[in-house]
Amino acid sequence: MKNYDYIFTGCGLSALMTVYEMILSGKFSDKTILLLDGNPKKSNDRTWCFWDDKISKYDSIIFKKWNFALFADENFRRNLDLKPYQYKMIRGLDFYNLIFDTISKHQNIHFYNQKVVDFEEVGNHCVVKTELENYTCNKIFNSIFNANLVKSQTKYPLLQQHFIGWFIKSKQSVFNPDCATFMDFSIEQKGNTRFMYVLPTSQNEALLEYTLFSKELLPKEEYETEIHNYIQKLGITEYEIVEKEQGNIPMTSYEFWKSNTKNIVNIGSAGGWTKASTGFTFKNVTKNSKDLVQFLRSENDFTKFHKTDKFWFYDLLFIDVLYKNNELGSKVFSSLFEKGNPTLIFRFLEEETSFYEDLRVIWKCPKGLFIKALLRRIFV
Ligand SMILES: Cc1cc2nc3c(=O)[nH]c(=O)nc-3n(C[C@H](O)[C@H](O)[C@H](O)COP(=O)(O)OP(=O)(O)OC[C@H]3O[C@@H](n4cnc5c(N)ncnc54)[C@H](O)[C@@H]3O)c2cc1C
Repeated sequence: MKNYDYIFTGCGLSALMTVYEMILSGKFSDKTILLLDGNPKKSNDRTWCFWDDKISKYDSIIFKKWNFALFADENFRRNLDLKPYQYKMIRGLDFYNLIFDTISKHQNIHFYNQKVVDFEEVGNHCVVKTELENYTCNKIFNSIFNANLVKSQTKYPLLQQHFIGWFIKSKQSVFNPDCATFMDFSIEQKGNTRFMYVLPTSQNEALLEYTLFSKELLPKEEYETEIHNYIQKLGITEYEIVEKEQGNIPMTSYEFWKSNTKNIVNIGSAGGWTKASTGFTFKNVTKNSKDLVQFLRSENDFTKFHKTDKFWFYDLLFIDVLYKNNELGSKVFSSLFEKGNPTLIFRFLEEETSFYEDLRVIWKCPKGLFIKALLRRIFV
């Protein structure tokens, strides 16, 4: 059996960013590293968007940036000036190419397109089994998401952020390329939290996603019918679908990190790096991958790699509220965005606010719902 220092089971966003951080640190060139993924990572399988107020190491692959974002529901529309933030988009394939180009210059790192069927810690080392081969290693970085872990318990409810998106080219010029539609709740809610998300890249090109934060998925046709209806509502009569994407992002405060062992760490969505209340993961992965690489330089036991903070608790209450009252999502988000200070809200969602600032944001939410959720967490 071939032996490595580190094996990455799953090789998407969090694994590639962690390896990239290792390379940039210059401290891991003596480690043998194997990346395993059932997918060759050669297609544009997703686009990532995130707020940013700084220049980052991924700026060279930013595909599009927006300075404004629209929030709307059936009663109001508000154009939010994002300053000092920008909303940035990276295409999955550009990210994979950037990292794999870098990896190809490092002989200690190998990628195999193999599906992992099992992995475990045995004594002081680990074993990884793929459909083709078995390997041993000192440490595993796992990003293969195990939904059964969350579904087999009831303490932390699981909502899904599910969507289908169409990249379209329209004959009519209807989009404002400087303004992303962050959430448009003016569509029928049908007892759920449903909104349209629109990312225009020019006056006649955009990615439009019909998105739900809810327990159950929909039949594919329903997302697509709703996207088509929305396109018509925008006044577009002729358009071409250039590409499609779909996703299902876990929204839960489940304590994934409790499954970490001395030598196996769960990373990415599998490690709880997805922000429960929004499904945003990209920014957390940039922070956590850096912290993990820093941690590895002085520590050896992955059970010590985690901190829970106040934002985890706020998200826990938020998911409790949306899980119990899914039809009220539009009202909850509107209460935040109708009059709230956008910079403060984005800093809150970025988990960069003080306790006093947290209260200013939370105060805008429907208080009864959140107080009930808090009491349920304390007394039930
Ligand atoms: C379409 C889409 C759009 C998204 N947009 C955003 C966004 O705009 N902003 C944001 O912050 N987040 C977004 N997310 C959420 C999140 O950022 C992504 O899901 C992100 O890729 C999560 O990173 P990860 O490393 O946890 O998982 P992944 O990137 O999915 O990596 C996991 C890897 O494991 C591999 N794998 C799975 N099973 C096996 C197996 N048995 N053997 C070997 N390999 C396996 C998969 O092929 C995959 O490459 C989006 C997600 C999707 C799906």
